[in-house]
Amino acid sequence: MITRQHGAEHRFTGRFLIDSSGYGGTLVKLLGLHDAPAGNGRMALFAQVRETEEHRARYFEPMQISFEVVARDLWFWSIPFSDGRTSIGFVGDNSHFAEAMASGSNAMAMNRMLEKQKAFDDRYAKVEFVHGPQCIREYTHYNQALTGERYVLTGNCAGFLDPVFSSGVAFATESGLRAAKLLDRQLRGEAIDWKSEYEDHIRSGAEVFRTYVDTWYDGDLQDIFFAEEVEQSHKERIVEVLAGYLWDSTNPYVSKHGKAVRALAQTIRLRDAERRAKAATGLH
Ligand SMILES: Cc1cc2nc3c(=O)[nH]c(=O)nc-3n(C[C@H](O)[C@H](O)[C@H](O)COP(=O)(O)OP(=O)(O)OC[C@H]3O[C@@H](n4cnc5c(N)ncnc54)[C@H](O)[C@@H]3O)c2cc1C
Repeated sequence: MITRQHGAEHRFTGRFLIDSSGYGGTLVKLLGLHDAPAGNGRMALFAQVRETEEHRARYFEPMQISFEVVARDLWFWSIPFSDGRTSIGFVGDNSHFAEAMASGSNAMAMNRMLEKQKAFDDRYAKVEFVHGPQCIREYTHYNQALTGERYVLTGNCAGFLDPVFSSGVAFATESGLRAAKLLDRQLRGEAIDWKSEYEDHIRSGAEVFRTYVDTWYDGDLQDIFFAEEVEQSHKERIVEVLAGYLWDSTNPYVSKHGKAVRALAQTIRLRDAERRAKAATGLH
């Protein structure tokens, strides 16, 4: 390894490398570990903008972290920071961006996309971009191998699912902590099976989260989120998953994630259709 800081260079050799370089993907690039993206046709266009306090004061609850579902498969986030910068971004199916991206620059494309959102009114219509806008296409991927001879990949180096529901930080913290604890045991002389103790663990969590990402974009999860009535116990279990408790096998929304989310969405749709039919005929 070579580290460079303030003109000084340090070379050293370690017994093991935990690569946590995020989007930098140091080992991923050096060893060619990147696998093909999932090819789900989604992209993100995002930026940081500068806002004055006076400007923010014109809008309702301006410091609230918030998002808008612009279409079933397109959403917009707004994350204000205390120093006057605000992170904004659109994520969704490529088709929603095609026209805007044809405008020639990311800045023009972002301004065109901003015309699609309604919840924030004209708040971002004339703001200064201080970072980006930047565009990432086909961002969903998970590397074929998360561990190898004397190295392990954590966080975004291992893979990235989707910005919806903040899985990025959840996986970065879980994988980083687990890698560090396993390595500590290994350096104390224990034999560690990195494939089963690390890789399979991270991958199983990613599989669970992927169900929630996919059902968000195909609408099942939105039918649950925006239903007039959902039993409290279901809500709590789903929130637990999205809060990062992806390995709690006592939660059916973890252990049977694929079936459970779709079954609940279907039940809600049938119940609501029945209610609408009854209301139309005047029956109760
Ligand atoms: C605009 C945007 C908004 C996001 N919002 C959210 C959100 O609200 N919630 C959420 O959960 N996730 C969010 N994410 C995703 C989240 O930021 C990442 O998933 C998460 O930060 C990954 O953590 P990490 O530790 O793997 O990598 P990083 O946080 O990227 O950290 C990697 C670090 O390694 C350093 N580094 C890289 N290469 C080298 C090198 N060669 N030598 C030394 N250091 C190096 C980098 O400078 C960086 O400090 C967002 C991402 C973006 C782009």
